[in-house]
Amino acid sequence: MIYLDAAATTPVRREVLEAMWPYLTGDFGNASSHHELGARAHEALEGARAEVAGVLGCRPSEVTFTSGGTEADNLAVKGIALARRAADPRRTRIAVSAIEHPAVLESARSLARLHGFAVDVVPVDAQGRVAPEALAGLLGPETAVASVMYANNEVGTVQPAAELSAVARAARVPFHTDAVQAAGWLPLGVGELGVDALSISGHKLGAPKGVGALFVAGRTVVEPLIDGGGQERGLRSGTENVAGAVALATALRLAEQERTTAGERLALLRDRFIGRVLDSVPDAVLTGHPTERLPGSASFCFPRVSGESVLLELERRGVVCSSGSACAAGSSDPSHVLLALGLEPAVAQTAVRFTLPGTVTAEELDAASAAVIEAHDVVAGLGMR
Ligand code: PLP
Repeated sequence: MIYLDAAATTPVRREVLEAMWPYLTGDFGNASSHHELGARAHEALEGARAEVAGVLGCRPSEVTFTSGGTEADNLAVKGIALARRAADPRRTRIAVSAIEHPAVLESARSLARLHGFAVDVVPVDAQGRVAPEALAGLLGPETAVASVMYANNEVGTVQPAAELSAVARAARVPFHTDAVQAAGWLPLGVGELGVDALSISGHKLGAPKGVGALFVAGRTVVEPLIDGGGQERGLRSGTENVAGAVALATALRLAEQERTTAGERLALLRDRFIGRVLDSVPDAVLTGHPTERLPGSASFCFPRVSGESVLLELERRGVVCSSGSACAAGSSDPSHVLLALGLEPAVAQTAVRFTLPGTVTAEELDAASAAVIEAHDVVAGLGMR
């Protein structure tokens, strides 16, 4: 099988499994326990926090471990919005980009439904970028929080995050970015990015599913969403997932060490793959930004050819990818991301997304591009060339 769905998830790396193993077995203690086993678990948890903080360039106390990217996004958007409004009742609006992951979009909708916030949706251009002026135009003294993702999971477009955060800072609005897809591929220094909050998720990086982290700048107040024993400085109660935190920290550190070399290699392979598909399928449209995109991201629309059918034909040929985002799987509605880029619904239905893992080889991609061309032609009724 040729796995080209790395944006959906990645396998756990061996080094990561080895690093987390002791905390699932011999050193299985509860990090809050006051005995030797607890102390060892606590030490591992704090070591993992320091490691994540090292990559993000922040203080360890600014890192909160969560159950994944979805929880990190919820905590950022809801937690900051609710805390801001509690401090200043005029703060009743939230700004989110039109192409956010549902973890952010639905958090904003939930704040609207349950807490009376108004949601301002920041548009994107045809390549999926948010213009700083567009964000600036929507922020004001009523805005409680703004959230614009660093890189998009469907089309791979990378945002000018530092410019956007500067706009938010000028408007005195806390700025969150969902860096779940960016982590491992783009610089994550929160100082350079100028963000107040940033989410990451383990399973996109070679750590297991079910662990993530949220950076929140010390100056930014957040209302917890999960109450209980007060773990994670009261921001996220619940017995800490020590092995998960160690796994996330290890995966993030390794990805950061390899980032430049791996990213350059992958971008070259991706461009060759994109070139082959575009050359052989004249109708194919590359979605997202031509250059400002994640190194492993190649997403297309094949007008008049059902994306789901192409997917099935590809799977029969041993190539696994996705028609839209895995999180929206099961829904046959066209992707909100592609609609926001201005594509017609009928064209958006033809989307096929390839997201290359860092381990992919040139041979695999050559085989995959041949399979794409074949699958397209079969579904389009062109027969075999
Ligand atoms: N944000 C983005 C951009 C994603 O791609 C995903 C997962 O697909 C998430 C958030 C959710 O992360 P998790 O699966 O860890 O809950």
